[in-house]
Amino acid sequence: MKLVSIVVPCYNEEEVLPLFYDEIIKVTNQMKQTHSELEFEFLFIDDGSKDKTLEGFRKLADIDERVRFISFSRNFGKEAGMFAGLKNSKGDYVVVMDADLQHPPSFLPEMYEYVKNGDYDCATTRRVSRKGESKIRSWFARKFYSIMNKISQTEIVDGAQDFRFMTRQMVDAILSMNEYNRFSKGIFSWVGFKVKYMEYENVERAAGTTAWSFWGLFKYSLEGIMAFSTAPLAIASLLGIISCVISFICAIIVVFKTVFFGEDVSGFPTIMCAIFLVGGLQLFCMGILGQYLAKAYLETKSRPIYIARETDEIYRNKKSENKSESVK
Ligand code: UDP
Ligand code: MG
Repeated sequence: MKLVSIVVPCYNEEEVLPLFYDEIIKVTNQMKQTHSELEFEFLFIDDGSKDKTLEGFRKLADIDERVRFISFSRNFGKEAGMFAGLKNSKGDYVVVMDADLQHPPSFLPEMYEYVKNGDYDCATTRRVSRKGESKIRSWFARKFYSIMNKISQTEIVDGAQDFRFMTRQMVDAILSMNEYNRFSKGIFSWVGFKVKYMEYENVERAAGTTAWSFWGLFKYSLEGIMAFSTAPLAIASLLGIISCVISFICAIIVVFKTVFFGEDVSGFPTIMCAIFLVGGLQLFCMGILGQYLAKAYLETKSRPIYIARETDEIYRNKKSENKSESVK
């Protein structure tokens, strides 16, 4: 028997949860018919939702014993949700997918075909169009990928998503990276392995709204750059060198003019400009340095990546206790 764990991070997904569950049950049942060796478990992560997502999980756990869940004590972000899911999954294969049906479950059978023979360790989708996304947003996204791939050793494929069908071996490799600042697009690629990219057209969310604002995405992309590249630090040094060279040339010109032509250099504006320029450069570079220091600071604290408040185990135990009490 082969167990497939389906990990689904959810944040305020009460609306799509029932739709998702119906869909995934349909697909997994079909897969069981063609592959009798397959068993499934569904591991939902509630990332501190403010709506009734957790109640939705409890209901699913009541009707389906393969449903497991973890509910966080607050919103820790999707990265933490995925980490918790991978960590608690028991399957020989693990699938990570979004709850909003933007990662169509209908891909699963084909993904399994790629992974099952050991030809690939991971099957994932890559969207070839950014339909349904604003022009500015896709422009920034494309720029991000091109910059990222220039400055980082880790290749990040444009349009690759967090929809993945992975072997246990790859999951364990991912879990062995226990960094606090998790940028999973980088992590998935950093661990290597053989990855099959399946192309597909972007689909819109089934219901609910995305939790990502433009600003949120922008910050996320900076996080990604810092997590997988130290190029900004090199830029800081480079700027320092350039400004040194410029000031050296300026100094020579000034000395030359004074010695040979006896010219006074008109003072105030030049000096102000120079001070502002150098001061600005210094602050900018210190800022970059500070960002990395802040990341290192958070890593050394080694705080937990997530904190669980409720799990299906706690819920099921409580329920059976209540039942036995009422029998008494
Ligand atoms: N998500 C999460 N925690 C968050 C934000 C999002 O677990 O803080 C989940 C969300 O419920 C969904 C997935 O991550 O299942 C992708 O989120 P969303 O659809 O909002 O992002 P998009 O598809 O627009 O990238
Ligand atoms: Mg989505």
